[in-house]
Amino acid sequence: MTENNKNILVVGGGISGVSVALEAAETGYDVILVEKNPTLGGMVAGFHQYFPKLCPPTCGLEINYRRLRANPRVRVLTSTEVQSLEGQAGSYQVSLKKAPAYVDERCVICDKCTAACPVEIPSGRNYGMSSTKAIHLPGKMAYPPRYVIHREACPPDCKECLNACTYNAIDLNAQAGEETVQVSSVVFATGWKPYDATRLELYSINKQQDVITNVMMERLAAADGPTQGKLLRPSDGSEVQSVAFVQCAGSRDENHLPYCSAVCCLASLKQARYVREANPQAQVHIFYIDIRTPGKYETFYSATRADENIHFIKGKVAGLQNTPEGKVRVEAEDILGGSKITRDVDLVVLATGMQPNGVEPSLAAGLVGLDENGFIAANLQKPGIYSAGVAKNPLDVNSSIQDSTGTALKAIQTVVQTTAESR
Ligand SMILES: Cc1cc2nc3c(=O)[nH]c(=O)nc-3n(C[C@H](O)[C@H](O)[C@H](O)COP(=O)(O)OP(=O)(O)OC[C@H]3O[C@@H](n4cnc5c(N)ncnc54)[C@H](O)[C@@H]3O)c2cc1C
Repeated sequence: MTENNKNILVVGGGISGVSVALEAAETGYDVILVEKNPTLGGMVAGFHQYFPKLCPPTCGLEINYRRLRANPRVRVLTSTEVQSLEGQAGSYQVSLKKAPAYVDERCVICDKCTAACPVEIPSGRNYGMSSTKAIHLPGKMAYPPRYVIHREACPPDCKECLNACTYNAIDLNAQAGEETVQVSSVVFATGWKPYDATRLELYSINKQQDVITNVMMERLAAADGPTQGKLLRPSDGSEVQSVAFVQCAGSRDENHLPYCSAVCCLASLKQARYVREANPQAQVHIFYIDIRTPGKYETFYSATRADENIHFIKGKVAGLQNTPEGKVRVEAEDILGGSKITRDVDLVVLATGMQPNGVEPSLAAGLVGLDENGFIAANLQKPGIYSAGVAKNPLDVNSSIQDSTGTALKAIQTVVQTTAESR
């Protein structure tokens, strides 16, 4: 690192935060990249494929991780959160809190610790659709490649993982750490979380196992997911023959998320293709209000629409019921057909929207402002504070990366201007 206060702090290590960090570092500026989770990658690290190319996100992430490894200007701090932020452009003081690192860099990913661990916990990565050990690697592409331990799940005095580790990489007594850094500018790339589908009473996700959300569908289709990529019904493990997608599940709705998340239509079109690729006989029904696939994505929509086993029904889903045959009955109004219709399917996927993670108001009082939906709006920030990617607005990956590149330039301008002013 050069003089401390010429650094840029990036908060959030998803595709946007990693992009901001790399663009700034490769231009010659020093960056501290802070991620609250044990691994970088954000939401896309759990996806099966990206629209429109239908390539695995792991390819793009691996290229970025290689750039990170090669660039000493980026200091990556995972399992770390910002506790407070104060100051002004050119001189922000940031207090960071790091969770205990129970596994250190001596770890060689031999997996002996996981094999020895006696404790199973619900897998957060798979949204509870499978279990994992209390010590586990948080994804096959984890960066840094380091196991995490859910200490709160460990039985008192259990040392099975410690005894199994022949590299002395585990310290069960590791403590949390704190650090204060000075930076010139700060970029929040804190991204999104899926809207809480249990709040959608109409769709009763908490009562029906075969009603899942779009992010769960990504895990179901993923080779490292709960079913090793086979599309099986959560209730009985049978092969999925029919799927209904419920668009705008909680989106464009004053009682839930009033805005459009911009990507859910494309995500469902992509997931309809997962279903059809896995099972050429499968039938897909997409219930929508409007299909939104702007710009170049229109060809993705038309190609998906050309599949005669993918049926598009314009109409809002009014309810979901279990049938005596073990299916889920979708009740909707077919607006174009002018009638009420039902479809009995094996699996229902709720296309829930992206809700911003935002920033804790207490964390940066007076410096970071949120808009009415919780996004970090550029015009509400103090000089030297920026937001990038979905933290700012619902965006696809490509637009998030473009936005991040522009935001890196803004952060660099703050470093350059405040350095010049201080001379
Ligand atoms: C179902 C679904 C499927 C999608 N599929 C596609 C697709 O195929 N193609 C496509 O282009 N787009 C797709 N998208 C959109 C894509 O997910 C987003 O464009 C992308 O995740 C944006 O990345 P991000 O880095 O801005 O946010 P995120 O991926 O959310 O990353 C934010 C990061 O910040 C971290 N963070 C949050 N708060 C803090 C904090 N306080 N301190 C430190 N770290 C913090 C998080 O842990 C996370 O790692 C899809 C969206 C959905 C809902």
